[in-house]
Amino acid sequence: MPEPYVGRFAPSPTGPLHLGSLATALGSWLDARVNKGRWLVRIEDIDTERCKPEHTHAILHALQSHGLQPDGEVWIQSTRHAQYQRALDQLLRAGRVYPCGCTRRDIDEANAHRPFGANRVYPGTCRHGLPPGKTPRAIRFCVPEEATHWTDWRLGPQTDRLCETSGDFVLKRGDGHWAYHLVVVVDDLASGVTHIVRGEDLAETTARQIAMYKALGAQPPSYVHLPVILAEDGQKLSKQTGAQALDCSNPIENLNRVWMHFGQEPMKGVDDVKDWLAKAIQQWPAVMQHLAYK
Ligand code: GLU
Repeated sequence: MPEPYVGRFAPSPTGPLHLGSLATALGSWLDARVNKGRWLVRIEDIDTERCKPEHTHAILHALQSHGLQPDGEVWIQSTRHAQYQRALDQLLRAGRVYPCGCTRRDIDEANAHRPFGANRVYPGTCRHGLPPGKTPRAIRFCVPEEATHWTDWRLGPQTDRLCETSGDFVLKRGDGHWAYHLVVVVDDLASGVTHIVRGEDLAETTARQIAMYKALGAQPPSYVHLPVILAEDGQKLSKQTGAQALDCSNPIENLNRVWMHFGQEPMKGVDDVKDWLAKAIQQWPAVMQHLAYK
């Protein structure tokens, strides 16, 4: 029997919901509905400096106004430190993480030969023990030597040789904060997520997350990275770039704008969110075919 489908939407409350995050919420919700699955919502507020409770409330209110009701309790990352520590301890016992004493400057210097704008790669300085004179700061994950392969529904087959694109990456920062790659994997695993539908801007993080699943002895979920909505200047719409909060008094118009972004005609003559969503559920398999890698 195939595993029951569990999907999720995992916003960071660094601002209110905008059109781009509504697209991810809607896509993941529809995919869960069509597959008779559950749809979870997790508030990724682990970065306490950038996340604000008022944004959490605004996001949850906006989801509700657009008819996107989570199946079950909303998870809040800032309440889950013990679980993250347990996973880190498991990786420590398995010899997959190590303390690193490098400063940002050390890493910049090691990358000085790379072209401007290229990824910074951790050179592995502390992988086999802290060099004399260095004090432990962050905890890093040992990336595999071999390439990581995965297939995205929309982007097709992907290959990432992490030792060349990121090097060993941070799971716990020097200031004690958890890094996104640890918490996202621990929470998706703990909540039984089987299908991740999210924005294409996160596609480049996927191989790191798959490597973590493997290190934790778990099966990675399937991935669909949806096209990202761009601002008029071609930049990604995001809370950081001040993307406008959705006007929740006009959910149908917002849903139709997202629908057009998925390459569909806006739904005419539908003035109730429930009816709009019911039609969208019927059309979603065709939208997914339209988006699929060919
Ligand atoms: N919290 C992340 C964001 O808002 C999304 C994480 C994910 O979907 O994996 O960009």
